[in-house]
Amino acid sequence: MSEPLSIPEGAVTWAEVNLPAYRANLRAIQTFVGPRVQIFAVVKANAYGHGLVPMARAALQAGARRLVVHRLDEALQLRASGIQAPILILGYVPLAAARWVAQHRLTPTVITLEFLEALSAHTPADAVSEVHINVDTGMGRYGLLPDEVVPFLRAAASIPRVRIEGIYTHFATADEADRTYMLQQWRVFQDVLTAAEAAGVRPPVRHACNSAAIFALPEAHLDAVRPGIATYGLRPSLDWETPIALQPVLTWKARVARVRTLPPGHGIGYGRTYVTSKPTTVALVPVGYGDGYHRILSNKGQVLIHGQRAPVLGRVSMDQIVVNVSHIPNVALEDEVVLLGQQGGEAISAEELAAWAQTINYEVVTAILPRVPRIYLDEAAP
Ligand SMILES: *Cc1c(COP(=O)(O)O)cnc(C)c1O
Repeated sequence: MSEPLSIPEGAVTWAEVNLPAYRANLRAIQTFVGPRVQIFAVVKANAYGHGLVPMARAALQAGARRLVVHRLDEALQLRASGIQAPILILGYVPLAAARWVAQHRLTPTVITLEFLEALSAHTPADAVSEVHINVDTGMGRYGLLPDEVVPFLRAAASIPRVRIEGIYTHFATADEADRTYMLQQWRVFQDVLTAAEAAGVRPPVRHACNSAAIFALPEAHLDAVRPGIATYGLRPSLDWETPIALQPVLTWKARVARVRTLPPGHGIGYGRTYVTSKPTTVALVPVGYGDGYHRILSNKGQVLIHGQRAPVLGRVSMDQIVVNVSHIPNVALEDEVVLLGQQGGEAISAEELAAWAQTINYEVVTAILPRVPRIYLDEAAP
């Protein structure tokens, strides 16, 4: 039994990731922002569930100039896979990790002089470590407050072997129809840039836009943009239509593990929250919350079989759900099930699943756990 499991032949559930669609989305975004604006492809959180390393490679093939992750560990995985491109780390990196940052030529987001000094200490005499700073213009999360920026940049200028290459901010409401707060944040960021410029310490690479802001505030494209959700073909906003065509990249599939007709009065699943009222043909689908199919989808979710919708009956278990296929003829063992994506003329979008699960499309795909194998479809293999 040393031969590895063949996916999808031997798997009961898997996610198909369409790399040409992902590259096409990145190229469409590049066309939208124009050739002078760099794309920093956001691949944090396992590339929103799509798989860190394959998506990072595809992003670079599509012309992304830099990869963006949240944690040091994600950046180290990219380096371990042989990726040499610049990697921006958005989140906090512990002081003790400055050594790895310097060694692997990563670009952390730095907001303390202590970290800059630690980084300086670990940077070889003939090298320079580049960092970005984040300005909190109204997100209330990470970042320097606007008034702290110029003093920080001045102090940083005297620390050897480190260079503040970039300065960025992040919008809290770019996806919303009401633009007031976004415009306020944008004004604050512009003022910070002007003040840094006047003080002669403005970092060369300025960036502000996530996916929503790319479309909602084109004047904020600056030197680079940081799209995440849109690159995966998902909508950055439910308040407005994305002005360019994007293709969803991930399709979550499974196969039917059992089909049978239950008699009336038969309970389904834990808690017996569903009881058949008539003979009901059901299919067992071996996917559950242990795969990231949220338990809140109990008695609520739908899947596609033979291009038709089959509703979830009863509770979502850790490993299985039961769906009603009474209205779908000839469902058979091992038939393909689509939990997310298109089948025949029907589709279940991440946005629709998110609405059922009372969450957002981001969480739907990011929540698909590593137990679900990803297979990468690539017609134009490099
Ligand atoms: C996650 C993240 C992004 C990407 O956001 P999307 O809405 O997915 O495009 C960009 N910038 C920062 C700081 C982020 O945390």
